[in-house]
Amino acid sequence: MLDVAEPRGIGKHFVAPEARRGAGDGARLDELAAALRLGAAEPGVVYLVGAGPGDPGLVTARAARLVATADVILHDLLVARELIALARPDAELYDVGKVGDGRHVAQEDTNDLLVRLAGEGRSVVRLKGGDPMVFGRGGEELGELLAAGVRAEVVAGVTSGTGALASAGIPGTHRGVAQAVAFVTGHGAGDTPDGDRDWKSLATFPGTLVFYMAVKALPDIARELVAHGRPADEPVAIIERGTTDRQRTTRGPLSEIAGIARRAKVRAPALVVVGPVAALADQLDWRGVRPLAGKAVVVTRAGDQAGTLAGRLRGLGAAVLELPAIEIVPTSAPLPDFAGCDLLTVTSPAAAGALWDALRAAGLDARALAAAGTLVAIGPGTADALSKHGIVADLIPKRAVSEGLIEALDELGVAPRRAIIVQAEGGRALLADELGRRGVEVTTAALHRTQSVPLTDEQLATLASADAVLFASGSAAKSVASSLTASGATDLRAALGSARPIAIGPTTATALRDLGLQPAAVSDPHTIDGLIDATVALLS
Ligand code: SAH
Repeated sequence: MLDVAEPRGIGKHFVAPEARRGAGDGARLDELAAALRLGAAEPGVVYLVGAGPGDPGLVTARAARLVATADVILHDLLVARELIALARPDAELYDVGKVGDGRHVAQEDTNDLLVRLAGEGRSVVRLKGGDPMVFGRGGEELGELLAAGVRAEVVAGVTSGTGALASAGIPGTHRGVAQAVAFVTGHGAGDTPDGDRDWKSLATFPGTLVFYMAVKALPDIARELVAHGRPADEPVAIIERGTTDRQRTTRGPLSEIAGIARRAKVRAPALVVVGPVAALADQLDWRGVRPLAGKAVVVTRAGDQAGTLAGRLRGLGAAVLELPAIEIVPTSAPLPDFAGCDLLTVTSPAAAGALWDALRAAGLDARALAAAGTLVAIGPGTADALSKHGIVADLIPKRAVSEGLIEALDELGVAPRRAIIVQAEGGRALLADELGRRGVEVTTAALHRTQSVPLTDEQLATLASADAVLFASGSAAKSVASSLTASGATDLRAALGSARPIAIGPTTATALRDLGLQPAAVSDPHTIDGLIDATVALLS
């Protein structure tokens, strides 16, 4: 651990080291960095980096690269968690947004810390929501750093004034409607004596006004704008938590917006958009028309695997909650002897990963599989996982279940003599049994097992308020059930609340039924695509 005294008032990191960097993210990020020719964070340099408005997709590639390589990261609130999770496991994280009692950390403390860390030769990323130079005090920090002779770099970010507007379907400028857009701070608008704020100029500004930090002062802002000549019926839109799962837009005319916002309990962070373009939010609501808009979906896959499923569901508009109910851990089973084997079957993406890890642990690589004869991947996901290691499956049965393999072998007229099946410990014996009946000598290599991860009462409460919960394996179903039971639930169906269970395939569906849970849908094909289609069909 690097040795830096924690300055007073600066909070500890909130993403635990073990939660940083899902397996493989580092490697993929390195590929992206190479493709875009992005350098790593350098010692003694402070990077003032915009983190975007909340959606991790709006983080710049440069920001991701710097976060992934820096020694120290200082961040405040409003920064996407997924971005901070890219940090190196040994990186030091400081939350300088707020201290325990809710007060802000003094700017001088932050500046001193930046200068000191850089002086110690550390690479330092100072992350700020949105763009660091738009109401982010980036100018002040940069000035201090340069004055202290510290090398600094500013990495622009998507400011909420453009990010949240785009997300809400509000064009800042619009042909024939608004030819200019102004970013204005609402901070202090209520306390400033009239003469200090040029309300006349603001009210008569020929274009859209976007107020940051304006929730508290909204009654004053609205009153002053109308008093100084802005039409009372001018459309206003308030965008809360723009670009995130919890984005909400509240609309109304300027003269009434303060009351509407109060009744709707509008809270920061929010932007107040004043101008005719605000009315376009009603017809350009591209988020609201997505098939899973307004739906909350829980994904119970292991953390490493949940990424793509969650990302695709989000793209369809769902608010996705990742509750990894299982994790994959290696077993101590020995690597099987591939010599003389003429059929090697890998039954899942996790099994593919475990096979690779076991090969590497034995000092071997893909060449060891050359002895193994025909290579079968159960399911396209498994084939993808193998191909990441340069291993191409000979056969992917049409049906992504064990039965599919038997059908495929029959169709091809292949009659193996000695087969190895790589599958999870405690996995189904169906395939081994069926091959055994056909006189095949079968070795089962259980190189990994899934282990339940208990869910907290808070996670279970969130789960119960979702619209659907997706199970991609029977072990995930069992794990969620045992968490529910452990929390005192006697009736599992009631404990799931509004969350309708969706199973990836018949095996998972059976596991659910065995637990007394009737799946609301079973996907077919039994793949991630199928699971997503089933979710859309059920919820939209
Ligand atoms: N540097 C930031 C702004 C920091 S000031 C940027 O460029 O966006 C903080 C204010 O930004 C909040 O009070 C709010 O008005 C606005 N803001 C930040 N993120 C937002 C979001 N996701 N949705 C709406 N407003 C946001």
